[in-house]
Amino acid sequence: MTHAVVLGGGLTGMLTAAALKGRADRVTVLESDVLPDSPQPRRGLPQGHHNHMLMGGGAEAFDKLIPGTTELLYAAGAQRRGLPGDALALSPEGWFHRHPSEAYVLLCSRDLLDHVVRRQVLGDGTVELVGSAKVTGLTGDATKVTGVTYDGEDGPRTLEADFVVDATGRRSKSPQWLVDLGLPLVHEEYIDGGFAYASRVYQAPPGTPEDFPGVLLQAKTGTDQPGRGAALLPNENGRWIVTLFGTRGGEPPTDEEGFVRYARERDHPIIADLVDQAEPLSEIRAYRGMANRRLYFEKLPMPRNFVVLGDAFQALNPNHGTGMSVAAQSALVLRDLIDAHPFTPDLSRTVQAAIAKVSAGPWQLVLGTDQFFPGVKSNLKRPGNPSQLKMTARLARIATENAYVSNTLFRIGSLSARPSSMLSPAFIWAALRGPRRRLLTAEEAIAQFPEFGDLLTRGKALNKKN
Ligand SMILES: Cc1cc2nc3c(=O)[nH]c(=O)nc-3n(C[C@H](O)[C@H](O)[C@H](O)COP(=O)(O)OP(=O)(O)OC[C@H]3O[C@@H](n4cnc5c(N)ncnc54)[C@H](O)[C@@H]3O)c2cc1C
Repeated sequence: MTHAVVLGGGLTGMLTAAALKGRADRVTVLESDVLPDSPQPRRGLPQGHHNHMLMGGGAEAFDKLIPGTTELLYAAGAQRRGLPGDALALSPEGWFHRHPSEAYVLLCSRDLLDHVVRRQVLGDGTVELVGSAKVTGLTGDATKVTGVTYDGEDGPRTLEADFVVDATGRRSKSPQWLVDLGLPLVHEEYIDGGFAYASRVYQAPPGTPEDFPGVLLQAKTGTDQPGRGAALLPNENGRWIVTLFGTRGGEPPTDEEGFVRYARERDHPIIADLVDQAEPLSEIRAYRGMANRRLYFEKLPMPRNFVVLGDAFQALNPNHGTGMSVAAQSALVLRDLIDAHPFTPDLSRTVQAAIAKVSAGPWQLVLGTDQFFPGVKSNLKRPGNPSQLKMTARLARIATENAYVSNTLFRIGSLSARPSSMLSPAFIWAALRGPRRRLLTAEEAIAQFPEFGDLLTRGKALNKKN
């Protein structure tokens, strides 16, 4: 009888439980929080107040792991938007042409997303969830994990396990737990641009069309100024979630006046014009502490029966929107490797190495941008150089006007394609040829989206009055 124990009942924990279901004889999830049984915020998920994009590549992994999940999300009001076809987007190099898009994102509140996944995983009662259970360590030795210790409602407990997955997120104690078993400390790389978020939920004005576009104003890298940007994403129930973001020295304010002013001072005031007409439904919430962290567990002589997944393995600056998708793709790899090597002694090392591969592309995407913000803190041995930044900027500029390049880059960014797809002859040719058209003005870019209807003209009229 195989007993698998998952540490942490967040998104990675639930996706991992889905991967283990039917493969281990018994699956237990230990979660320090109390998980709600409806789409509600919870203490252990403070990021739930901020905007979330589930990338197309992640959505596909969700459905492979738990068939029917995205259908349930759409039925509950989640929105699908093509990138950049269904979102007005300003990159650091200019406004995007509205190309028909192959890449897409699924948009909804994080509370809804987690609720639907949780219901799918726990609904049939085959996975046991133990709430208010704070994991405190691993049992076993440097060669083999045999279980975990935790503080539960009835005091300290030990739970035996044949396979343990750490999905406790960014603040995982696995590095120390492994040291306690006699392993060396895992090597960690970090890149911290000092990103800060401020977010607010709004009810869209009456008459807002169902297919209202998202608005993405990206932060500019590689200048001596902090990066600053803003995003407005349609969610379920006719809601918008607006997130303002800035890097060290450019953090968005959290008071009402400062919030709208920050939105208005971006390259274009469109988000401020839109929220002027919407009804605020929440407080303005801040979030900090979003550094990129990569822990090289695959380089350690990992003990048998133990794997680290999700943010506990690699936590990314959420501005890239890939954490949940990497978690889903990693859980899928775990599932497929268990099918190929059902709980064999070397399974955990094989899985850890495969997860490192899944995580590599998104880490490269981070390297291409985050290390170039002013005041960045990082321990990279080989930091990026200006030619890398120049190449990123050139490609971003071409992507604003070239549908093929735009689709390739957005498919890579949404984890539907590998970075190696930039090596296609068509992509290389477009990169060598460079931009061919002048940049769109803001007015031309906005005019591509009749879905904004009269909301923008109404917004301007309101501002003149005030
Ligand atoms: C502000 C913000 C915005 C984000 N936006 C996006 C986005 O747009 N797209 C995207 O893909 N990703 C986004 N992310 C990242 C995304 O939230 C994570 O990648 C995703 O939640 C997977 O995390 P996880 O389950 O590994 O960890 P977590 O979400 O941190 O979950 C860990 C779970 O473990 C529990 N836990 C912790 N310690 C213990 C313990 N000792 N014992 C028992 N339980 C424990 C916690 O209570 C929690 O439930 C965002 C993150 C932040 C902070």
